[in-house]
Amino acid sequence: MSLLLAGFLLLSSAQSSVSPMQGAPRPVYLHGKVRLADGKVPAGRVVIERVCSGVARQDGYTDSQGDFSIQGNSQLSSIVPDASVNVDKSFPTSQQTGGLQAGVADRDLVGCEIRASLPGYVSDTINLGFRRVLDNPFIGTIYLHPVATAETYFYNAVANYSQKNLKAAEDNAREAAKRDPQHLNPKINLLLGVLLTDKKEFKEAAENLRIYLQANPSAPDAGAIRQQLATLENWGTLPADWIHGSDPCVAKAENAFQIHAYNENTYILREDKCINYEGPFVYLFFGEDKVFMQDTGAAPRADSGIAFPIRETVMKVVDEWSKKHGKKSLELLVTHSHTHGDHTGGDSQFAGQPNTTMMKFGATDSTLDLGGRILDIMPIPGHEAASVAVYDRNTKLLLTGDTVYPGRLYVRDWPAFKASIEKLAIFVRTHEVSHVLGTHIEMSNKPGVDYAVRTTYQPEEHTLEMTPANILELYEALLKMGDTPVRDVHKDFIVYPR
Ligand SMILES: [Zn+2]
Ligand SMILES: [Zn+2]
Repeated sequence: MSLLLAGFLLLSSAQSSVSPMQGAPRPVYLHGKVRLADGKVPAGRVVIERVCSGVARQDGYTDSQGDFSIQGNSQLSSIVPDASVNVDKSFPTSQQTGGLQAGVADRDLVGCEIRASLPGYVSDTINLGFRRVLDNPFIGTIYLHPVATAETYFYNAVANYSQKNLKAAEDNAREAAKRDPQHLNPKINLLLGVLLTDKKEFKEAAENLRIYLQANPSAPDAGAIRQQLATLENWGTLPADWIHGSDPCVAKAENAFQIHAYNENTYILREDKCINYEGPFVYLFFGEDKVFMQDTGAAPRADSGIAFPIRETVMKVVDEWSKKHGKKSLELLVTHSHTHGDHTGGDSQFAGQPNTTMMKFGATDSTLDLGGRILDIMPIPGHEAASVAVYDRNTKLLLTGDTVYPGRLYVRDWPAFKASIEKLAIFVRTHEVSHVLGTHIEMSNKPGVDYAVRTTYQPEEHTLEMTPANILELYEALLKMGDTPVRDVHKDFIVYPR
């Protein structure tokens, strides 16, 4: 049996009312519609392409209604190839494939799909794979989707930023960055850097500023941005949540402390409130030669049988840091925010250990050089005689112990406390401060509402970080009180004379 005859039998058995042209492949007439994604008819003619085995050829155009049909040789030959389309000149025309008088032969459709082509748009495709002569010749609607370029998103981002729609600005800037992996427009990264700095997402902000400077090293603003970057690189991040106890309280040695890396060289530990309801914070600042440690935690009740692995936890952090930075014997300086027992609970674990110095500060301001990292130590008596504030010139963090924190500020020595807060107020007015960090959280996230003393579960606690504005607010409040301190509730803290 010849191939032609076989084809004839196949076709004629499918539907008897149609009488195929004898001796030639039956032509397939195809028509369809092209619409924009919003359903509108595209303005002007749109090229229709047939893509077979990865090779595209133009098959026609839409008419003014956005409709197209592929009907025969005359139209095929009238197409002027578009230079932007990979047109296969060797693609067999229907004339070459068997003397078709009109239409597209079945075999021309195997492995083919139809798409539309319009600059600035991405086309859906319609697979013609198994289409047969007798199928409905309407192949469907091809939708064109606008190509969203990096530039489109960037301009949206800038527009939103100037209108202070920061969330939309960030979303658009991120989309723009995704579409510009080569950083052809580094201003996308500059904008992201600015937006993320505002959000205090310093690490990612710094990455974006670095990209901007690399792509644009001699930009007029490069000097200022380099300076900004140097600051950001030392700034870190605080967690959204700290461990805040549990109900009922179950103290587990492995969960005794939350270890938070604020940045590469700065760690903040929080003790589980189920070990001791005080749930204090412990700070670790790494320099080239020395590690500054502030406080050793609040020990559990002696008869509780609860584990208190403060040294083990700290040494794990110190050993990992040393290994990563190729240091053999860092000296650990164990210091205290003040001498109350809820900050000295682990002292006995550190005293007498190798590479460990138990440090006490003098009564006057001093500096402590950790190696490439200088701390300012400022006595601030009032809560307790040995209270100190510590300012890290690298991260601009100001540690304020139990003197300023989101909680009940217990004042023991009123004149000394007032003088110390005045000193801090002057300091924050004259120095850049990233965060004010104390050693407890007792406030809830509701303004002026604190958790009761001995609370061991604080699901809605205040953030650890306070601001320089909080210190100024406290100073104002003390000035108003004059010589007689009173309990004074503020949004983020409560003045609590004792
Ligand atoms: Zn205290
Ligand atoms: Zn305390």
